[in-house]
Amino acid sequence: MKESYCNIALPVPLRTTFTYLVPEGLRGQVQAGSRVLVPFRKKSLVGVVVEMTEDAPEGTRIRDVSRVLDLAPALTPKLLELGRWIAGYYLAPIGEVFRAMLPPQTEIALKRQILATEAGKALAEKLKDRGVLTDLGNAEVEFLGKLLEKKGVLTVTPGRKLGLPPQAFERMQRRGYIEVREILEGRKRKTQQVAAWKVKDGSTQKLGEQEQRVRALLETERGPLPVARLLKLAHVSRALLERMLRDGFMESWEEPVDPAEDPFETGYTPSAHALNETQESAFKAIRGRFELGGFGVQLLHGVTGSGKTEVYLRSVQETLAHGKTAIVLVPEIALTLWIGRQCRAWFGARFEGVAVLHSALSDVERAREWWRVRKGEARVVVGTRSAVFAPVENLGLIIVDEEQEGSYKQEETPRYNGRDVAIVRAKLESGAALLGSATPSLETYNNAINGKYELLTMTTRVENRSLASVEIVDMREDFQHTHQASPISRALYTGIGECLSFNTQALVLINRRGYSWSVLCRGCGASVECVNCSISMTYHKSRNRLECHYCGSVQAVPKTCTKCDSKYIYFFGEGSEHVEERLRREFPGARIARLDRDTARTKQQYQETLGAFASGALDILVGTQMLAKGHDFQRVTLVGVISADSSLSLPDFRAAERTFQLLTQVAGRAGRGELPGRVLIQTYYPEHYAIQDAVRQDYVSFYERELHFRRMMAYPPFTSLANVIVRDTDPENAIKWSRWLAEYFSPHDGKAVRILGPASAPLARLKKEHRYQFLLKSSKRSVLTKLLSGALAFCEANEIPGTAVLVDMDPLTLL
Ligand code: ADP
Ligand code: ZN
Ligand code: ZN
Repeated sequence: MKESYCNIALPVPLRTTFTYLVPEGLRGQVQAGSRVLVPFRKKSLVGVVVEMTEDAPEGTRIRDVSRVLDLAPALTPKLLELGRWIAGYYLAPIGEVFRAMLPPQTEIALKRQILATEAGKALAEKLKDRGVLTDLGNAEVEFLGKLLEKKGVLTVTPGRKLGLPPQAFERMQRRGYIEVREILEGRKRKTQQVAAWKVKDGSTQKLGEQEQRVRALLETERGPLPVARLLKLAHVSRALLERMLRDGFMESWEEPVDPAEDPFETGYTPSAHALNETQESAFKAIRGRFELGGFGVQLLHGVTGSGKTEVYLRSVQETLAHGKTAIVLVPEIALTLWIGRQCRAWFGARFEGVAVLHSALSDVERAREWWRVRKGEARVVVGTRSAVFAPVENLGLIIVDEEQEGSYKQEETPRYNGRDVAIVRAKLESGAALLGSATPSLETYNNAINGKYELLTMTTRVENRSLASVEIVDMREDFQHTHQASPISRALYTGIGECLSFNTQALVLINRRGYSWSVLCRGCGASVECVNCSISMTYHKSRNRLECHYCGSVQAVPKTCTKCDSKYIYFFGEGSEHVEERLRREFPGARIARLDRDTARTKQQYQETLGAFASGALDILVGTQMLAKGHDFQRVTLVGVISADSSLSLPDFRAAERTFQLLTQVAGRAGRGELPGRVLIQTYYPEHYAIQDAVRQDYVSFYERELHFRRMMAYPPFTSLANVIVRDTDPENAIKWSRWLAEYFSPHDGKAVRILGPASAPLARLKKEHRYQFLLKSSKRSVLTKLLSGALAFCEANEIPGTAVLVDMDPLTLL
């Protein structure tokens, strides 16, 4: 029989697929894209059928597929193709790629109901009289009889035998005797009623005071809200809301309660605005792209506060109007819920079609959302990185918001970049990709300048608000005056004091957490390092201990130097905890909170702090880059950046780019409301162009200078880059394998590729592993891919463990 074998990708660190036999009983059920359970060595594993084949490789024992997990294949043909591309491009084991693409396995069962139709029932009745002629075979007649015994409904799980060959089953379906329905079973999900404002303009004059309050909350201040919340915030009765719903001022729908967080505590404002001229012209270009049809990439370069979200939403609306589906990728979880809810407000009430996918959902919730998408129930997906794999069909548009964000890069196998995968996916599915950012990555902007992407620019903020004015505080000068090494300059103290007296708010960014980031001995100069990593330990005062921010190990605070026994230990380099303490001392009356990974251990704490700040319950918020992203606080008039240059000195070619992005983003948090904003950047290197251009908020100037540097140094976008790390807990092994690899690489060096290394990696020891590094540069990526797949085969042949050699294609960081 044809196609009785299949090739299966399994989640093992091997770069091949495995052939299995599809046993008689499962034929017709196993298809490309199906998830199956198979025996592998002494275990059972879940794998994905990559393709069906007619024959098996000779000379190996072929085992049977044990079970099929899905009735309909989990992965569409396009997703299979995408998975293969990822495995090839990022040199990742194919089984691990598919595992990353699939929903969690602790999932709700997809079941199938087989129902007898009226025609089927009538026929079965007739068949009770013998001698009636029918076009059905014996097995089919028997099946129909069995179905009626079960009151005409049979519920089956995947893999269960029906006692009927698949062809016969299909024949009965075609002839209209039976009907098949896929159903999702699982725990009932908790939902809540959410309300949104509906009347967008006019006809609101006759609203009373209470109704106006509801309107203000839903339309301009908060956006769609759970009804329970709305009742509390607006102080109105349920009856009033019900009347407003009936009168058509609002609409409402049920939406799953997200256990992870309530985004409305963060004070995000919604959008319900007519597009302004700038937005309109960007949107026109996007619509034009749709009219053209087919694949294309556009970059929406819009300054902070230019209203990009509004443009995204219109674009999604346009996609739906064309009968297609859309994926919106955002860099962090908090934003998925916010944008997800806005999408529901726009599209959801009329049509239950928005799914939200992110890693803070429980496995059951995630699987459920995933299957809703797979079954075509949701046509808009909003999510973080892995939502790029959302199994929508007929994809029209993928949006990648803040496309430069590091969170799109997965820093474990498969090491893909969600933004790049989004573009490839759009290409495979002949859809459009829309990348948005105020500070695009160099690669992306370069593609736009070269005409590979279409560039759309929005240079002004909405409502003609001006960008914040940015000033540099030269810390060298500050020291000349004060002769004190304080992390907070006089200018910043004065600025914060003004905020307090005018009753506005201040944000203070310090991109290191903890109290001091190093502990040194004055006697011998030794610093306290982590026992597992070559990194100095950070002092955390509130917990009174030293912590490693890479592996989490802790040590007691030493009283004397462990090397020379000297008593003169000192703490060096201020972190967020320290800055918070200073601010509290300086402004004893102020309401101050800190937001970093220590204070925001849970999503709840994070939301609480942001919510308190948004609602005006705090005056000053100190924190790490968690503060810099996306938030739309209306009363912030001052942003202070402490040691803006700390990220400039990292041994990484993206250091300047990252610094510029962070400074621009955080400057974008000031002056978003009616009040103008001011930003103070403290630095010891005010001359550096990353800082100079951030002060002027001049992206194009930064791009040009940075591009020059990249060209001189042969870094992306002028070359393709791959980072190879060889690692092992035994330093001997790490060195030996590096040497072998070096020998393998050496004949290739200097031809189409430059190979640097092996050298000790910047993080020479990490989590007990010793690390050596190669950096491969080539003007042709295909050269890198070929060389590296050869190298990996070489490793396998020489029994270098698969986990010891880490290949990072297009690395975001070289640390
Ligand atoms: P960006 O992502 O570009 O920084 P946002 O999309 O967050 O900007 O929009 C900034 C603010 O401007 C939001 O509060 C949004 O509701 C508001 N906004 C968007 N479009 C308009 C418009 N056309 N008129 C007035 N306000 C708008
Ligand atoms: Zn010492
Ligand atoms: Zn460590």
